[in-house]
Amino acid sequence: MENLMLPRFCPVCSQRLMPSERFLCMACAMDLPRIDLEPINDNAMTRKMWSQVPVAMGTSVIAYRHQSPFHNILINIKYHGATELALEMGRWAAWETMSTNLFEQTDVMVPIPLSRKKMRKRGYNQSLLLCQGMAQVNHLPVKNWLYRFNDENSQTHLSEEERVENTIDAFGANIPVEERGKRILLVDDVFTTGATMTACARAILKSDNTAIINIFTLSYTI
Ligand SMILES: [Zn+2]
Repeated sequence: MENLMLPRFCPVCSQRLMPSERFLCMACAMDLPRIDLEPINDNAMTRKMWSQVPVAMGTSVIAYRHQSPFHNILINIKYHGATELALEMGRWAAWETMSTNLFEQTDVMVPIPLSRKKMRKRGYNQSLLLCQGMAQVNHLPVKNWLYRFNDENSQTHLSEEERVENTIDAFGANIPVEERGKRILLVDDVFTTGATMTACARAILKSDNTAIINIFTLSYTI
């Protein structure tokens, strides 16, 4: 239970939050750098995917820049245990996306998984939390149909980018027979090269080649 007497701070600008401000200060919430990837069936994100794997639709809501203070939102939900913030960003992202018909064209949301080893270490999967926040708004079911093999120890010396290159065979999917042919929305916190999404889409299609793949990320690296 949150101690309401403790001061709380905006993760973006570090200003103390007002009692009425739940996660971000009002100014930062208003200033969230938006990205409009439209139309959702043909944009920079879907095109990055198309050379690798067929996806039907894709979009994102926050323009992600490494140097930007808004980067702290991702850092906090990914590494610093900001689980409530992840849920809130999921809810917000879903509201922001309601004007598209992405959710009408989706049957089930599937989070990008962590390896069991990372899950044990971190205790939560930020992509699952985003899905759960989104589900409070769009009421779509969330299924953990993807799994991630444990990272090879031999990869620990690799850079983040090199590790991304090694994600191709990192994922597997278990889709129940009775759930075949579903329109699946893969959900992750950030889209950069699309390597992770591509690997996950391939794993899904390997398990069910009649599935339709849509993709959604909280942020999009520009
Ligand atoms: Zn702020």
